[in-house]
Amino acid sequence: MGGFGFTEQQEMFRREVRNFVQKELLPGAKERAGVAGIPRDIVRKVAGMGLIGLRVPEKYGGQPADWVTVGIAIEELARGDFFTSCLPTQGIFSSYLFEKNEAICEEWLPAIVKGERTVCLALTESEVGSDAANIKTRAVRDGDVYVLSGEKLSISFGPWADAAILFAKTDPKAGFRGISAFLVPTNSPGVTRSTMPMMGWRPVGQAIITLDNVRVPRGRLLGEEGKGFAAVMTQFDFTRPVLALQALALAQLSLEDAISYAQQRQAFGQPLAKYEGVSFKIAEDLTLVEAARLLCYRALWLREQGLPHSKESAMCKWLGPKVAVRAIHDSLLTHGHVGYSEEYPLQQRLKDAIGFEIADGTAEIMKLIVVREALGKEFAK
Ligand SMILES: Cc1cc2nc3c(=O)[nH]c(=O)nc-3n(C[C@H](O)[C@H](O)[C@H](O)COP(=O)(O)OP(=O)(O)OC[C@H]3O[C@@H](n4cnc5c(N)ncnc54)[C@H](O)[C@@H]3O)c2cc1C
Repeated sequence: MGGFGFTEQQEMFRREVRNFVQKELLPGAKERAGVAGIPRDIVRKVAGMGLIGLRVPEKYGGQPADWVTVGIAIEELARGDFFTSCLPTQGIFSSYLFEKNEAICEEWLPAIVKGERTVCLALTESEVGSDAANIKTRAVRDGDVYVLSGEKLSISFGPWADAAILFAKTDPKAGFRGISAFLVPTNSPGVTRSTMPMMGWRPVGQAIITLDNVRVPRGRLLGEEGKGFAAVMTQFDFTRPVLALQALALAQLSLEDAISYAQQRQAFGQPLAKYEGVSFKIAEDLTLVEAARLLCYRALWLREQGLPHSKESAMCKWLGPKVAVRAIHDSLLTHGHVGYSEEYPLQQRLKDAIGFEIADGTAEIMKLIVVREALGKEFAK
């Protein structure tokens, strides 16, 4: 974004990604959406376009991109095959969290960028989700290793990931300042995984990862001890607007389907679109989706300018998925019984979009962030 709107370069990039998505990702996307497991050939195609390497340093195979351009890539991927839109974030959060560890960067980043390796981010636990500073997983120093014990739940990409960026308490008395981040290969002795059956996000998958005295060399500590929580929180300021864009892309597709269906389907002697009960609903949803989408791009633009954007990112994350779920639900109803059938992608999109209402922080937690900034810390308990 230069002034208000996208730059010529960003529009060109959008067209390029859209063409790729239409040719390479749309065929078979509906079938893949309900099936567990990452199709590696598709991951490699996305990697081949350089999209997992956005903002990863060039020496590891990445390419520079401004934050708005990253949003464009993710939004366009979500229009083609929802699960692929989760891939660019992998490169971004990995290169950020590995930043201070050259050996890990060299070992992992080129493979992530090429789509040969996958990582997951493991924070949530059975007793702790929103209140993430209270995680129970422990990392106890034993000479040159840390010994990790605990359990992580609902971890996206967890069933197939080659490693977890995993958060554990190195100092349980220090609150969030006692949380450190580690890179834990999922084939480490003491790590076990099982898949959690979820209503959506099937190709991405969610895992339970159990750590039973897992010995992690000190070299796999990411950044400094006690700085893990702060590091992941700054990443949420980026992931929240892009998660919202992913949900909104599903909504936009559903609205496009609803528009053409309403124009063609006849009821009581005329197209559905001639009834205000149908067309006004579409008009409202188009308005809400566009408003939320612009909020997301503004948050990314603020990030690009180096301006504060935690509040704006939180706004995107509660509003985007909410209006997306509403728009998909309305579009499904506009299709009547066929919308409810598995023949149509609407029910799958609805299930996937609801996941965005929870992942990376619920609406209530996002509103607490807005309240903290707008009203003051004392009102955000
Ligand atoms: C699709 C999906 C993907 C995910 N991927 C990952 C991942 O890759 N890595 C990972 O670590 N986690 C992941 N998660 C977990 C996710 O981050 C948590 O589910 C989320 O943070 C909420 O935590 P919780 O489920 O424990 O809910 P809880 O924290 O138990 O909250 C339950 C309900 O209470 C409300 N609530 C809680 N506290 C307050 C409060 N103070 N005020 C008002 N209301 C409150 C919440 O809004 C929510 O509605 C994923 C979840 C989903 C659904």
